[in-house]
Amino acid sequence: MDYYKPEQLEQWDKQYVWHPFTQMRQWQKEKPLIIAKGEGSYLYDLEGNKYLDGISSLWVTVHGHRKKEINRAIIEQLDQLAHSTLLGQANIPSTLLARKLVEITPEGLNKVFYSESGSTAVEIGLKIAYQYWQQRGEEKYKTKRKFVSLANAYHGDTIGSVSVGGINLFHKIFAGLLFETVNAPSPYCYRCPLHLNRESCTMDCVREMESLLADHHHEIAGVVIEPLVQGAAGMLVAPEGYLAGVRELCTRFDVLLIADEVAVGFGRTGKMFACAHENVKPDIMCLAKGITGGYLPLAATMVTDEIYQAFLGEIDECRTFYHGHTYTGNPVACAAALANLELFARDQLIAGLQEKIAFFSADLKRFMELQHVGDVRQKGLMAGIEIVGNKAAKEPFAIKYNIPHRIVLEARKNGLIIRPLDNVIVLMPILSMSLAELKRLLDITYAAIRKVTEEEA
Ligand code: PLP
Repeated sequence: MDYYKPEQLEQWDKQYVWHPFTQMRQWQKEKPLIIAKGEGSYLYDLEGNKYLDGISSLWVTVHGHRKKEINRAIIEQLDQLAHSTLLGQANIPSTLLARKLVEITPEGLNKVFYSESGSTAVEIGLKIAYQYWQQRGEEKYKTKRKFVSLANAYHGDTIGSVSVGGINLFHKIFAGLLFETVNAPSPYCYRCPLHLNRESCTMDCVREMESLLADHHHEIAGVVIEPLVQGAAGMLVAPEGYLAGVRELCTRFDVLLIADEVAVGFGRTGKMFACAHENVKPDIMCLAKGITGGYLPLAATMVTDEIYQAFLGEIDECRTFYHGHTYTGNPVACAAALANLELFARDQLIAGLQEKIAFFSADLKRFMELQHVGDVRQKGLMAGIEIVGNKAAKEPFAIKYNIPHRIVLEARKNGLIIRPLDNVIVLMPILSMSLAELKRLLDITYAAIRKVTEEEA
């Protein structure tokens, strides 16, 4: 690639690029961080400054940047075939990967439908669930056309996935475009919508779900859920047993459980899939992010044989699932995913994670000592630190102080990339980080939160 001066690239970025989920006026005022290179747990900007990647490049990187085995698998596949369509054809990596995904995901998920992002994996899950009930045969199931979605949920930004989302900021402006859902409360224990707390928790959120399903099951196709952790809402960790409770209710009321493992899948919670913590077998499972270890866009929606059967029939019965994208099942992305999964096995990554998770969890406890940290939530190698202006009242700082963004900039000055989600500082270390790197991540974050919040106090 030609060499361009950093100032030139910065100017062109501001002139031409519209960044996702970004306050562009603020972006225009600041010096953009342009990442030029990655290596292991680190990213490097145009000037060669080095940053620890504390968010796994938006929750995707598993074995580190520039992992030679994944790079090699991509190059080898490019030497064979960059792309061919899955419409009426097959290719080798997508076949092998589907077989592998069926082997490692919870029992019963035997069919794989590919796409390219977490949003599309969820969109496809919704469409499959909807069509499934229409084609089940019995008339009584034809009324199952709605979904239960949770407050604070995030499932992506296509119209269907926003419809089942519950974050007002992303939802409200598109209200006229979205389909109606039946809403269940979020298991947000720090600000429990049912006025309980962790100590007094009697899992009334499961009981709420029970009464919703009891009243509405005849019109509900599925419950869409982020297993164990609502990530984008600020790492809201559900009480133990919540997921298993919802599974039991879905079975009892003949409703599909759609588990969105886009963020929590591939080792993030300390098991390969979050559902495994409560031995839950979903009917539909959505995967993306870590599936290629952070190398190429790929997603998968997995379903049971029972669901798949409803799409089989004679040609004139028109039971086909009419959905698919140009790049569905791209062989290069599938080759990257296969290499990623081989490394999980070769490096015994999940077993090795346990010591790191224990350290991460123990070291995070000290954050609660900070005057402006209201709550610290953690599951596996994911954590959310909720910043408050007033700890006793659980009140956030006024928006005008822009505290979360300032914390992120302060951490960056000290060589760490993290991101805020509303008032929550989110940590998503790369799974292959060493204990020393995890310690550095936590130390810089701690110091940045303390400095910025105490300046304001
Ligand atoms: N589902 C969950 C649980 C997510 O956390 C995300 C993204 O953060 C998505 C879906 C959407 O994934 P993508 O950004 O790849 O479309």
